Amino acid sequence: MEKKYNIAVVGGGPAGLSAAWAAAKAGASVVLFEKDEAIAHSVRTSGVSWIDSMDALGIPSNLYNPVSSYQFVSPSNEVTVAGTSARSCVLDVRATYQHLAFMAAEAGAQIMVKSNVINVAKEGGRVAGVKASTPAGDLEVKCSLVIDASGFGTSAGRKAGMAGEWKRYGAGAEYECYCDHADNSLWTLMVGQQYSEAGYAWVFPLSNNRVRIGVGIGRPESQADPLEKLHSILEKNLKPLDRLGKIQPVELHYGFIPNEGTRQATVADGLLMVGDSAGQANPLVLEGIRYAIEFGRLAGRVGAESIAKGSTKESLAEYERVWKAKVASKIASALKVQTRWIGLSDEEWDKEIEILRDMSGDEFIDFVKAEFTAGKMMKLALPPPETCSAPAVQHGTEIIAQKSR
Ligand SMILES: Cc1cc2nc3c(=O)[nH]c(=O)nc-3n(C[C@H](O)[C@H](O)[C@H](O)COP(=O)(O)OP(=O)(O)OC[C@H]3O[C@@H](n4cnc5c(N)ncnc54)[C@H](O)[C@@H]3O)c2cc1C
Repeated sequence: MEKKYNIAVVGGGPAGLSAAWAAAKAGASVVLFEKDEAIAHSVRTSGVSWIDSMDALGIPSNLYNPVSSYQFVSPSNEVTVAGTSARSCVLDVRATYQHLAFMAAEAGAQIMVKSNVINVAKEGGRVAGVKASTPAGDLEVKCSLVIDASGFGTSAGRKAGMAGEWKRYGAGAEYECYCDHADNSLWTLMVGQQYSEAGYAWVFPLSNNRVRIGVGIGRPESQADPLEKLHSILEKNLKPLDRLGKIQPVELHYGFIPNEGTRQATVADGLLMVGDSAGQANPLVLEGIRYAIEFGRLAGRVGAESIAKGSTKESLAEYERVWKAKVASKIASALKVQTRWIGLSDEEWDKEIEILRDMSGDEFIDFVKAEFTAGKMMKLALPPPETCSAPAVQHGTEIIAQKSR
């Protein structure tokens, strides 16, 4: 089978669904391929995001659980930042992605599930289509633009020879669980060797008795298996799990996320990369859903407009210019903080989390969202000066003092 569309989108995650919606809305004919049998069939994320970002993107509030307080637990310390109002949230991931899929379908995009893009077609060095294996047989699509929103695997970009494999990345395993009693307004990050050799563990609430408990481990710093680590945390009932009563997993989530900053090039002749395939996630807590939606929409709009201008690489360049201006330096600064965090010992973590004790809820959210200026992020990225063996709390005070200037 052979078909023609203006745009083929590879991947039905938040980036691809948002790109398909925006491109269809701008008048392009669009097909989207998702290799799983349903949109969000396999959840590969914990779904933490920010209420102001979700509002700005028009994500309805019934699709998430609002969270106002944030807790850091290390082997011998614990700090809670209590916010006065909810600024973070935990998404119902499946419902949110299905919502994005319905938006794309309503705008006119064709969505093909259980349809794996196995190759890209090139004409004279330019990407000119894709080949997919679908429930109705193999399909060849000729198009003016391919949008690679295939996530960590970057399948179209790699087939086109535009992108390599990620060398630094996070592997995460998570159970969505019943528990007897959780505080649904509080999420917790756990740091130190017993939780993750190079990363952190988490408890994210969806309600008073539904939580996501997970472990993320950075590669290549550690080759430990996040699922084994998660089992060990559950078995030992490490804090704060001991406060949740009975815990019973009902779903397993597993995924990978790039963690080396953004790709240098996300635009080629006939191809755009967006979302995780472009490295568009905030490395501090490895969150990328809001950027996937925002830049997915940007990619779809710019892609559709570029077709009207003759589909040149130059007309696609606006996409990369806009998203890089918005987040590239924030991602680079946040990566420095995170790189330092990955090397901390248990004792250092016990001190490090004191930094948070003086933060208000709003300051904490600005920090984890990587909304600090590059200078302030750099402060956190650097170890305290050798000459001054100041306790971590002074390091923290300095950050707050700088912020108020
Ligand atoms: C363990 C873990 C926890 C995370 N927690 C958070 C969090 O709390 N908050 C947050 O904001 N972010 C989080 N992230 C990151 C977030 O999940 C990603 O940034 C986001 O999903 C990126 O969206 P995407 O659309 O680019 O890619 P994805 O969500 O990965 O979607 C890609 C889609 O493409 C499909 N696909 C791949 N190859 C093909 C192909 N060849 N043909 C057809 N379909 C294909 C896949 O099946 C998938 O559905 C987490 C990631 C991991 C791994």
